[in-house]
Amino acid sequence: MPPVPPVPPMPSVSPAPVLIEQQIDFASAGFLCAILIIASGTGITYMVTGRALQPVTDLSKEIEEIDENNLYRQVQVPPPKDEVASLSVSFNRMIHKLEKSFLAYKHFSANAAHELKTPLAAMLARIEVVQLSDPPILEEYTEALEDMRSNVERLNSIVNDLLQMNSNMNGFRRVIFGANELFETIISEFFLEIQRKHIHIEVHLEDVMLYGEKNLLHQAFSNILHNAIKYNKENGSIRITAVHHSDTTCITFADTGIGIPEDQIDKIFDPFYCVDKSRSRELGGNGLGLSIVKAVIDKHDGSIQVQSEAGVATTFVIQLPNSQSIL
Ligand code: ATP
Ligand code: MG
Repeated sequence: MPPVPPVPPMPSVSPAPVLIEQQIDFASAGFLCAILIIASGTGITYMVTGRALQPVTDLSKEIEEIDENNLYRQVQVPPPKDEVASLSVSFNRMIHKLEKSFLAYKHFSANAAHELKTPLAAMLARIEVVQLSDPPILEEYTEALEDMRSNVERLNSIVNDLLQMNSNMNGFRRVIFGANELFETIISEFFLEIQRKHIHIEVHLEDVMLYGEKNLLHQAFSNILHNAIKYNKENGSIRITAVHHSDTTCITFADTGIGIPEDQIDKIFDPFYCVDKSRSRELGGNGLGLSIVKAVIDKHDGSIQVQSEAGVATTFVIQLPNSQSIL
């Protein structure tokens, strides 16, 4: 057998240095590109969202500048009719309502302070007059005491009315009850005044049932009837009616009294407002009766309207929701 020639060794395959370099270049370029894309993407997103949210940032800055001292300020409504614009409009509306109730509250406090100050100042003046007499005689003491008594009574009635008006009507619980029974009680409470003025009262309730907080409605209807008697003429008349409708019950008080001038009808529900202050004082009024009525009717989700002709007549119309429209 001839000898087998030796097999030459296989050359070892090693990567070409050029190819490796190319691979490294490609990887680092890809990495750089990715970083560039991420960075520019972030930048663009930041710019775009920043610009889109700019109106929100402006709005929040403007809102932060509004406090109890500048509630009259309004935020700017951006021109495009988008969500931010509608948010700005709603905010302006809310701030306007807040301003109104803030002013009403300030006005109320000022009036209350004034009304309380008047009898206090009168009492102080009376005491000083007595102290000036040297020595005061018994009559002066008696007169001063009588005067102070009427001022204390006035203070007491104002404070009671204020407490009633500002009580948060705790324990508000509506029940269904007969209008007949309620008005019988209320009218009997004013029996003497009705007789003294020879007022004729007509009542048409037709077994209507009312739905509400009995004590509060008693107070409200009592205040309206008391006005109808107080501001009525001798031999005048008052007509009380209640009519049941599908959703509401309508109660009216019509009197043939002195009436209310047209330009003052809107103001009579304001606390301490009296058309004729001295006359109301003479009759022992504080101008709080109708404010209490309004608070009670609002609490019942009802409404109250007034029609009046000065010197002729006044009618109060109250609408109270029925039980089925609430339950
Ligand atoms: P108060 O009720 O606190 O004793 P008041 O009767 O003066 O005092 P309101 O009941 O709030 O106060 O009434 C406000 C004003 O409205 C009255 O001062 C009166 O001028 C006018 N007014 C109310 N009801 C009538 C009415 N039926 N006829 C004419 N004027 C009325
Ligand atoms: Mg009154």
